[in-house]
Amino acid sequence: MKLELLDRLMPALEKRPPRVKLRLFTSGSCRHPEWVTLRGGGLRPVTIPAMWACIEHPSYGWILFDTGYAARFLEATSRLPEKLYRMMTPVQFLSEESAAEQLRRTGIDPAQVGKIVISHFHADHVAGLRDFPNARFIYNPVAYEAVRELTGLSALRRAFLPELLPEDFESRSDTLASAPVITLPPELGFPFPSARDVLGDGSLLAVDLPGHADGQIGLLLATELHTYFLCADAAWSSRAYREARPPHPLAGVIMPSRSDYRESFGRIIQFHRQFPEVRIIPSHCAEASSRWTPGRGTLL
Ligand SMILES: [Zn+2]
Repeated sequence: MKLELLDRLMPALEKRPPRVKLRLFTSGSCRHPEWVTLRGGGLRPVTIPAMWACIEHPSYGWILFDTGYAARFLEATSRLPEKLYRMMTPVQFLSEESAAEQLRRTGIDPAQVGKIVISHFHADHVAGLRDFPNARFIYNPVAYEAVRELTGLSALRRAFLPELLPEDFESRSDTLASAPVITLPPELGFPFPSARDVLGDGSLLAVDLPGHADGQIGLLLATELHTYFLCADAAWSSRAYREARPPHPLAGVIMPSRSDYRESFGRIIQFHRQFPEVRIIPSHCAEASSRWTPGRGTLL
C-alpha cells in the first residue's frame, strides 16, 4: 500500500497519527460573477457554496471545521450598515441547511460537538458557532486579534460580524498558540515549512494560509481511505489550483494582504502537484460541493 502523506510525515510526528472519519456539508451559498473568483472566468453569476466539515475523532469525538452560513447571518445583516454585506454578497440560505440542523439529521447532537476549528473569522465560516453550546473554539490567535476590536463598517470591511460569536467565545477558546509546532522536512516536498499539531496526536495538522484573511489556517487530515486538505478560502475552487488561476485582482480588495494570498495560493498549487492523491477541498468549490456533499453525511 502506498504510504499516505501523514505517514510520510511520521519521522516528524513520532508515531502513526490516528485516522479520523470525515463528512462534508454545505450550508447556504452566495452568488458572484465567475470572473471575480477565477481569472478569465465568465460574466455569468455562479453559485458559491459554503462548505464545512464534521470530523469524528476516535478519542475526541465530534469536531467541526467551520460552520458555513446560519440563520443568525440573515438576522445580523438585516439592518444597515451590516445589510451592505448581503447587498454585495447575495446569500441563499434555508434554516434547514444550518450546520446544527444537518448534523441532527445525520444523528449527531450539536450539543455533543466538543471542538470547532475556525479557519478564519469571515461570517460565512463562523455564522453557526452559537448553535454549539459545548464546543471549544480552536483557531490561529492572529486571525482573532485582527478582528476582535472591530465593529460597524471596519468589521464589515473584514467580512466580520461580531454578533455571530457567542458571548463566552474567549473563555471557550483554545488557540493554536499552545499547539505543538511540527517542522516539515523539505525533502518531502511539502510546500509548508511547518504545521501545528491541533490535538497533539498528529491527526489534525493546521497549516498557515494567510492572505485571504489574517491568520487563516487550513487542515490536513487522513481517513482510512484518503488524505484531505481542507484549504478554506486560500483557493476558491478546484479549477483555480488545478489550472493555476487565481481570483481577479478586484477580489483583492477584501484581502488584508494580496502578496500573502499569492504565496498561499502558490503553495496550494505546489502541494497539489507534489501530492496529487490528496483531496484538496476549498470551502467554496461548487465542484467539490456537488461531488462530496449531496449525500449529506456520507463518510469520506
Ligand atoms: Zn469564505
